[in-house]
Amino acid sequence: MDAEGVPVSAATGGSDAADVVVIGSGIVGLGAAYAAIRRGLSVIVVDRTDAPVGATIRNFGHLCIGAQEGDARRYADASRELWLRLSRDARFWLRESGTLVAARRADELAVLEQAAAGGGIRMLETDELLRLAPLRSDGLVGGAHIETDLQTDPRTAAAAIVRHLARSGVEFRFRTAVTAVGTGRVDTTRGPLTAGSIVVAVNHDLDQLLPEIAERTGVVRCTLDMLRAAVTFRHPLSAPLLTGWSLVRYGRFADTSSAVALRERLHAERPDLAALDLNQMYTQLPDGTLIIGDSHATGVSPAPFQPEAAFAAFLSEADALFDMPTPRVLERWQGVYAKGPQEFLVEQVDEGVLALAATTGIGMTTGLGLAEENLTAAFGWTPAMEGTA
Ligand SMILES: Cc1cc2nc3c(=O)[nH]c(=O)nc-3n(C[C@H](O)[C@H](O)[C@H](O)COP(=O)(O)OP(=O)(O)OC[C@H]3O[C@@H](n4cnc5c(N)ncnc54)[C@H](O)[C@@H]3O)c2cc1C
Repeated sequence: MDAEGVPVSAATGGSDAADVVVIGSGIVGLGAAYAAIRRGLSVIVVDRTDAPVGATIRNFGHLCIGAQEGDARRYADASRELWLRLSRDARFWLRESGTLVAARRADELAVLEQAAAGGGIRMLETDELLRLAPLRSDGLVGGAHIETDLQTDPRTAAAAIVRHLARSGVEFRFRTAVTAVGTGRVDTTRGPLTAGSIVVAVNHDLDQLLPEIAERTGVVRCTLDMLRAAVTFRHPLSAPLLTGWSLVRYGRFADTSSAVALRERLHAERPDLAALDLNQMYTQLPDGTLIIGDSHATGVSPAPFQPEAAFAAFLSEADALFDMPTPRVLERWQGVYAKGPQEFLVEQVDEGVLALAATTGIGMTTGLGLAEENLTAAFGWTPAMEGTA
């Protein structure tokens, strides 16, 4: 039982059958459970850990909606509504902050202006950006505000959603690993479960549970290094903050023609940061600490060793960008997500068995919508089924 008397860590108990069994209690699995329970279906969520501790709590909490395109934008827009509703109902911190982008060179401004022409992104003069973010003024040439974006605290959001879903009737089987899955049946380390519909939402562990699908679709692992620091800002950072390195990463910016020159310049000037596959970005948590990241390494089995060069680069780049005394590092960690040639994996594994994953680093932004849309389509759910949970 948690402090509110909800059995969030129940390992056993209840029925061994449900309308829907979800494997994985990260944001994609929680999105699947939320979609199912709102349609009046019985739901069991199975996870081998005793609470969500995967990518869903290790990220920036940046819901980067307005920088997406195509399927990602559709899932992100759907997720936005679900995030807002869940934060109200499950009572966790979330703010309609938008996202700030700091431009320090003309080629960064060019990318922002090109993307802003599509709407939803407002260009900022340097003065306004300095009021919204405690940056150094030297070198800053302007910026932008992505208006539709949200920010949450990943460390509290997932646990609050678990409690809310448990109160709504979802049964959680924690400390229970799934060993095999097929039509109507989920084998676990605590015995089999049966279900009409099964959702596999295990992120990068797809390569262990369903290795043939991971191999066929080219899904491997991406490891990321991050840190959290105590900072002294002259005023708070009002929204997640992106830099030029983010502009060559997120679809809506990276697909502009101006991004080609920006990428070339960044890689030529800073091969050390390019080698880290840096996405230089920041979010400030409600307690005032700053999440700083992040580096990326991709492979079937990326090395577990966290190069100190990455953390040194995070701190020196933060020092060059923000007007602040040297921050004090509180924590360092590694996160992992599934990485594939496409942005999403949506695979029918067997009759009534669906595997879902965000296969790039935007699963917090898109995961709820990814689950909502694909479960509805795969399991033939109708709008009339939706209730009030
Ligand atoms: C460092 C970092 C920063 C990121 N920043 C952002 C960001 O700011 N914005 C954004 O949109 N996205 C971000 N992402 C990506 C995002 O966090 C992920 O895409 C998303 O959280 C994936 O959710 P998930 O539910 O698929 O996976 P997870 O949260 O990893 O959950 C998968 C769950 O499956 C369970 N599981 C696995 N195998 C089994 C099994 N056999 N049996 C039972 N349980 C099993 C695991 O225990 C785990 O709890 C970031 C990711 C990382 C790592």
